[in-house]
This record gives sequence, C-alpha cells and structure tokens, in this order.
Amino acid sequence: MSIDAFLRPINHSETLLINERSEQLESSRRVFRFGFGQSPFPVPACVAEGLRQQANAKAYLPVQGWKPLREAVAAFHRQQDSVDWQPERVLIGPGSKLLIYAVMASFTRAEVLLVSPSWVSYEPQAKLAGHKVSRLQANADSEWRLTPEMLDQFCHQRETPELPLILVLNYPGNPSGTTYSEDQLQALADVLRHHGVLVISDEIYGMLHHQGGHRSLARYYPEGTLVTGGLSKWCGAGGWRLGVLHVPEALSESLLPRLLGVASETWSCVTAPVQYAAVEAYAFGPEVASYVQRQREILSSLGQQAAGVLNEAGISTALPQGGFYLFPDFGQWREALARLNIHTSDQLCERLLTEAGVALLPGTAFGMPQEVLTARLSYVNFDGAAALTAAADEMIAVTQP
Ligand code: PLP
Repeated sequence: MSIDAFLRPINHSETLLINERSEQLESSRRVFRFGFGQSPFPVPACVAEGLRQQANAKAYLPVQGWKPLREAVAAFHRQQDSVDWQPERVLIGPGSKLLIYAVMASFTRAEVLLVSPSWVSYEPQAKLAGHKVSRLQANADSEWRLTPEMLDQFCHQRETPELPLILVLNYPGNPSGTTYSEDQLQALADVLRHHGVLVISDEIYGMLHHQGGHRSLARYYPEGTLVTGGLSKWCGAGGWRLGVLHVPEALSESLLPRLLGVASETWSCVTAPVQYAAVEAYAFGPEVASYVQRQREILSSLGQQAAGVLNEAGISTALPQGGFYLFPDFGQWREALARLNIHTSDQLCERLLTEAGVALLPGTAFGMPQEVLTARLSYVNFDGAAALTAAADEMIAVTQP
C-alpha cells in the first residue's frame, strides 16, 4: 500500500534549506551567507560553565519546568519588561518554537491570524494543528507592522467569528527587523481587547532590541497575551533548546492545564543540565548583563551599516531596531530586473544565489506575495561591512548589467 496520499504536505523549513544550499555552493565560489539567522555570539562563559558543572544531572524534571528556573524567569521578565510574570504560570519548553506549537495544539479549532511578513514556522504549525490560517498584509510604509486599523477591520469582517481568534505577533521582528513602540502597542491592545483576541506574543528577540527599549504587549493587554521567549537569541544558545512561555492569569484554569497536558504527553521536560544552567542566565548578573549590552552595540552597528549599504544601492530597507534581520524591498530595481526576466522574489533570490553568490531568503517564505520583490537578509553571518559592500556590488553587477 502506498502511504503517499496520507502524508501531510509539510516540508523542511526554508530557513534551514538555504544554509544547506549555501554550503554546497561554497565549494565552487564565494558565498555571502545572509540567509540563515543564527546568533554568532558564544554562550556567556558563566552560563556555559554552569552547564559543564551539571553535565551529570540526569533526572526528569517537572513537566512545567524546574521551579527555581521558573522563579528566575518570572523575576527576570518582571524586571526587564515591567510585566506581571508569575512562576506558577511559566512553562519551560524545548525552545519557544515548540511552545508556540503547544499553544496551537491545545485548541481543537481556532483561526490563527498572521501578519505578512512573519516568521516561516507559524503557518505550518497552525496547519499541523488543524486550524484555519488568515493573513493580514503589512506594507513597507508602516515598516511591515500590523496597524490597529487593519486589525479592527479584519475583526469586523471575519468569516468565522465562531472560532477563537489567535493572533501571532513577533517583535522585534523576523524578518522585519523593526518593532512596536509603546503607543503602537497600546493602540493594538485597545483593538485586541475590544474584540477579545488571544495573542501569542513572540518576543524571542526582545532582549536584542538594539537600544534595550523592548516593550511587551503583556504590559498593555495582560489578560489576553501569552508571551514566548527563551535563551536561543539573547544567550546565543539556540541549540540548547530552552524556551519560556507565560500564560495570563485569566487563562490559568482553562488553557494552562491543556498546555501542561500537551507538554507531558510530548516532550516531558527540558534537559536537566540545561535548565540548571539557565538559572544562571536568568539571574542576569553583571557578566551576563554586560554581555547583552555588548551584543546590542554590535548588532546595532552591523544593522545600521547593512541598511546603509542597501539603501545606497537603491534597495530600500527600514533601519533595524532589534534582532539580526533586514527585510529589503527591491521594488526600485523592478524594471531592470524585469529585463532579466526576474519578476518574483523567488526568481530574484535564486538568481542572486547562483549568479552573485548572495544567499537571501525570498519574501514568499514569510507569506509575502511573489510579485512584491522582498527578501530577508540576516546581517550576523558575514565577515564585516566589506563583505556586505562586495555582496551589494555583486548583486548590482548581476541584476543591472
Ligand atoms: N520565533 C522567531 C521569530 C524566530 O526567529 C525563532 C528562531 O529562529 C524562534 C521563534 C524559535 O526560537 P527557539 O529556538 O526558542 O525555538
């Protein structure tokens, strides 16, 4: 019997594939790897040392997470973000990605609302969980942000008002690189409250706001905001797989038990040595604090340089505010590109990779329409501003001969 007809249409994530393709090409030419977004920073020494010391820890820990870690996480976010995080409503999971999926898997039916562009995994996750996916198209003028007007209009015109609505909002954004101000979050909160929307607020890059000015939606809309974060970005520890989720008090008797059910029937608990070591990170002593500060300075400087080089080459991009990405719009090159038979963002990225050795991820990976010529550039995987200038020159040479 062939199983093909029974398999889900789910594929290897594009962000991981681009890295593999860049590696293959590297044997034959110089490749500018702007595709894959992984923190280049080492794990802070004191946190890595904590892990080494706990290498023999082997017990299963509680499904919700080791209590001293949940306490440290809650205290950290209360202090950093002025939000009311409580340890009894924190869930520790193997990465925030799986925690986001756990929220989706806790619902039998829901409508998941995504902003285009947004991170690649939300839509496949929502579909795996069997939910309806709706999208709102953001634009370059608002630096790819969701606006309260768009949200309000969508809520008024929903086709399935009987389903709970779960908005996934990510800021600082992957791929946008931009974030929301206090006023913008407040304005969104008013609309969200009015329509009773549940939000998964993906704040994995919050600590990497370049100016240390991250604001959490949970401050303005505490009753409906689930926040996710973790060690992957600000501690450079993506491979450790430690994510955190905070559940609002209003959902502590309904959703939280279901989340614990999903956790206990799937991952059981996060690796014990990692949880013990994570306490050191979340205690946020002077060594970790200055490590984060230094990262912000480096990212800010790289991001501003990268945006400057692109803008000078006529590829418009918003100045980054946090994280490691830019989401340039090649619209100004449209005519020159059309003469080369490049009409879509997939075609653009394919040609840039094979002919200029520049690896970018096409906007379509983030839910953008093909004809909007956008791509994500990750500015942490290159060896200095000179490489970026060289890459821009190659792109211009290839696309505007
Ligand atoms: N959310 C966004 C926007 C990301 O870019 C990533 C990682 O690339 C994640 C979530 C997943 O992070 P974690 O390593 O905590 O699963």
